[in-house]
Amino acid sequence: MLISARELSRRYGSAELKFFALEPTSLEIEAGAFVAVVGASGSGKSTLMHLLGLLDQPSSGRLFFDGRDTTALGPDAAAHLRNRRIGFIFQQYHLLPRMTALRNVELPMVYARESSRNRRRRAEAALEAVGLSARIDSLPTSLSGGEQQRVAIARALVMDPVLLLADEPTGALDSKSGEGILGLIEALHRQGRTVVMVTHDEKIAARAPRIIHMRDGSVTSDGAPVRQVPSSPEVVTS
Ligand code: ADP
Ligand code: MG
Repeated sequence: MLISARELSRRYGSAELKFFALEPTSLEIEAGAFVAVVGASGSGKSTLMHLLGLLDQPSSGRLFFDGRDTTALGPDAAAHLRNRRIGFIFQQYHLLPRMTALRNVELPMVYARESSRNRRRRAEAALEAVGLSARIDSLPTSLSGGEQQRVAIARALVMDPVLLLADEPTGALDSKSGEGILGLIEALHRQGRTVVMVTHDEKIAARAPRIIHMRDGSVTSDGAPVRQVPSSPEVVTS
């Protein structure tokens, strides 16, 4: 199992307030899965995504990534794991405005201390893979929203992560550029990447074979394909 969350929760505010942005939640995501997390604004989707991506620490529970308990990892070890294994795509792209597309895509490799030659080679390849070879020297401000999101996807991919986390990846885009980005995300999944995509839009979520619905910090349904479950309780052995 790539991801195993056990009673993972995130609480904000004082202990007495007991406001759970994420109620204790257990779920598993296998390598190669394409999972949509859908729910209204404020339902806890981003909270869950930040926990799965080791961007945030749970208030309780455990998170196993590729069999490893990440809960006790210090910030450096978490950052290292994130850098090597997880790619992020955000609604607002989060590109550095004074850096060209190429430099933005090189950034994760700067943290990973890749040689400048390797950085350039791999960033160019990643930008080519998202169809942006012609814009590598452009600043984000001179790119369309769809193009900026492609740069962000190239940046997310350049370390060859096993997991891609996308939080409302088309939320700031018109429907045509959004469609291009969704097509790209689907293609990445077909190439074997594990994808978790957060959206408030049921139609977008419906493109994933597994849909996790959230409401008020809880998972209300999980459309995982039904696993082989013994039909009668007597034969349950584990
Ligand atoms: P979604 O992504 O589904 O819109 P979020 O996960 O961002 O929802 O938020 C879930 C709930 O947690 C919301 O009520 C939100 O206001 C609250 N929340 C999120 N981040 C914080 C924070 N840093 N401090 C306090 N409350 C927060
Ligand atoms: Mg959100």
